[in-house]
Amino acid sequence: MKNFNPANNIQDLQYFGEFGGVNPSISDSSTYTFLSAKTMFDTFEGNMEGCYLYSRHSSPSNLYLDKALAAMEGTETANVSASGMGAITPTLLQLCGTGDHIVSSRTIYGGTYALLKNFTPRLGIKTTFVDITKLDVVEAAIIPETKVLYCETVSNPLLEVADIEGLAKIAKKHNLTLVVDNTFSPLSVSPARLGADIVIHSLTKYINGSSDTVGGVTCASQEFIDNLKNVNSGASMLLGPTMDSLRSASVMKNLRTLHIRMKQHSHNTMYLAQRFEKDGLKTVYPGLESHPSHKIYKTMINPEYGFGGMMTLDVGTLAKANELMELMQAKNLGYLAVSLGFYKTLFSAPGTSTSSEIPMDEQIEMGLTDGLIRFSIGLDNDIERTYQMMKACMMELEILKSESILMV
Ligand code: PLP
Repeated sequence: MKNFNPANNIQDLQYFGEFGGVNPSISDSSTYTFLSAKTMFDTFEGNMEGCYLYSRHSSPSNLYLDKALAAMEGTETANVSASGMGAITPTLLQLCGTGDHIVSSRTIYGGTYALLKNFTPRLGIKTTFVDITKLDVVEAAIIPETKVLYCETVSNPLLEVADIEGLAKIAKKHNLTLVVDNTFSPLSVSPARLGADIVIHSLTKYINGSSDTVGGVTCASQEFIDNLKNVNSGASMLLGPTMDSLRSASVMKNLRTLHIRMKQHSHNTMYLAQRFEKDGLKTVYPGLESHPSHKIYKTMINPEYGFGGMMTLDVGTLAKANELMELMQAKNLGYLAVSLGFYKTLFSAPGTSTSSEIPMDEQIEMGLTDGLIRFSIGLDNDIERTYQMMKACMMELEILKSESILMV
């Protein structure tokens, strides 16, 4: 764990463009020529390092980004994809077939939940959803058919923290693959260093950071990525969620400022979380001592990047949450929008948006309350000003009555 600095690992890579450009040239081709037919055959067989076949398989631009993201996560290699779901789906389908079983955290991104709950059962893959913070419950859910343990480092939307080292021990003991979605905590947490076998990101969020594209990545061993890309049996190759070269080149450029952005996101979010908690609002942020997993998260993070940019506030009812979000948008404090990792603060009520795939009774059971607002705090330069403006909105709507008296 010591001496691992994900941002330094990215910075230490050096690429030049074809004509000495400071950015690598973009490979704007879907297919590639061969001087000899034999080389083409060998490339199909996967025996030719440095030769490109067809861009659904790989392209130079995608390989640059693969390399940078693998360096960031400390895995042997990586495979970028057209979206986060385009990374999650092939990864799980590569690991599981008919009759296999997955143990998954129950608080995960709604799309992943829907995939595991509604879609993969059609292929004979069953999932048991558990409270990932209870290692005994996780272990008890494992059956002989279990192949995968799946979680998010910091879960969407409840910000539960997975004890990755603890889960890795269980995975090892039962010969399972531990797959961790690290979308909420890039740089802050390095799951592979804590024992995860495969690390996934939706690049759509912090890593790209400009809310102008969707993208994903699977970071793993060379063997696993080779399997994913195998022309005969690879789920990525055959399902086809390929990232376009132009996009991977632009994500790569944004990745270079990720460390600066993460520090500012974390700083701003800690600032607001501390103050709103003090004001009496029900505030969830892994950086707060009141967070049930604060202590363990503190041991997991690369401290200079902080506790991340996501927090939730519970303002009591959905009606109040909606009013507040509309007012904050009107005051230009951010956007009422799903997603995260933008320069501007984004907020949404997960029960009716990103987690709406989760049935109401299950939402209640997992603590996903009606009045919950999920915030992705932006890169605001003057966070005290933001705090005062947000507080004024809450007072106008009587969510906060005065400096310290809470109405909800
Ligand atoms: N994982 C997490 C934690 C997410 O929040 C999301 C999207 O919101 C995804 C995966 C899916 O990513 P994408 O929208 O890029 O397919």
